[in-house]
Amino acid sequence: MIIIMKANASDGDIEAVLTRLESGGWRTHVSKGEERTIIGIIGDERRLDQGAMSRMDGVDRVVPVLRPFKLASRDFQPDDSKVSINGHVFGGNKIVVMAGPCSVESLEQMRETAIAVREAGAHMLRGGAFKPRTSPYSFQGMGEAGLKILAQVREETGLYVVTEVMSPDQVELVSKYADMLQIGTRNMQNYALLNAVGQTNMPVLLKRGMMSTIEELLMSAEYIMSNGNHRVVLCERGIRTFEKYTRNTLDINAVPVLKELTHLPVVVDPSHATGKWTLVKAASKAAVAAGADGLIIEVHPNPAEASSDGEQSLKPQRFAELMVEVGRVAAAVGRSV
Ligand code: PEP
Ligand code: MN
Repeated sequence: MIIIMKANASDGDIEAVLTRLESGGWRTHVSKGEERTIIGIIGDERRLDQGAMSRMDGVDRVVPVLRPFKLASRDFQPDDSKVSINGHVFGGNKIVVMAGPCSVESLEQMRETAIAVREAGAHMLRGGAFKPRTSPYSFQGMGEAGLKILAQVREETGLYVVTEVMSPDQVELVSKYADMLQIGTRNMQNYALLNAVGQTNMPVLLKRGMMSTIEELLMSAEYIMSNGNHRVVLCERGIRTFEKYTRNTLDINAVPVLKELTHLPVVVDPSHATGKWTLVKAASKAAVAAGADGLIIEVHPNPAEASSDGEQSLKPQRFAELMVEVGRVAAAVGRSV
């Protein structure tokens, strides 16, 4: 349920509505828009006396929210959320670009990549220290040593870091070194992990499960938000379909659909969505044209030697070319990179 206040409702009117709800045991979420304030109600709605609420001073109307996600929904908060990391704002006019290798492999590899992607205009650095690999025999990541490398390269380059956290017991450790916690596709419905990151104040990059619906993605965001952490950025990274030519199918629809359903920022991962470096530039441009707020792109100085995902990793020079073309598309849709 949401309560839409009248445009001329006073602060006192809003306060009175909040007091009444909170003393009745409901939790509230206030969204102050330019025109009017909307109060979201979280809790058992059947107990709510809608008629009495709608007669309170300053209340325009009481409207049910039929969707299962509440805090994440545009009904609760019509204005776009902004998630800021060191001045880079997801959900604003600028497209935020995160780039770097799939896995952290060495200090030299991270340093070289970071300098190159920063030079090309990237805003943040990516790199996995804990890797969720399909095979237990594949490289599993450098662990804490990899996190230390990320933190050192951040010191050297000023690029803030997004990196994956795979389990609740890693949240504290990864938060010590990272600036944004990535939840991977395989963990989108790891509810213990969602609860754990929800109890931090860290920005979260929540990737869509490879076989999850858009609604399931938003329900996972709701887990994080209902724990008190609203700094959630959603990521479309491709879903499984019958098509085998690409690793996944980039669900470009997800971008405008999410923009309709939620106020949360939306980014696209064209690397995992395609699985082939030759397709990454086109997918990036499509994402920005469709309204994405950011991109996360795999870049490696020597993709042939990469410990993971070399086939979809761009060489730095190709990433630089991509940034120029993405910049043109951004300008065409009234945004910048
Ligand atoms: C990654 O970003 O390297 C990764 C493992 O992504 P996903 O969880 O989308 O497969
Ligand atoms: Mn990868």
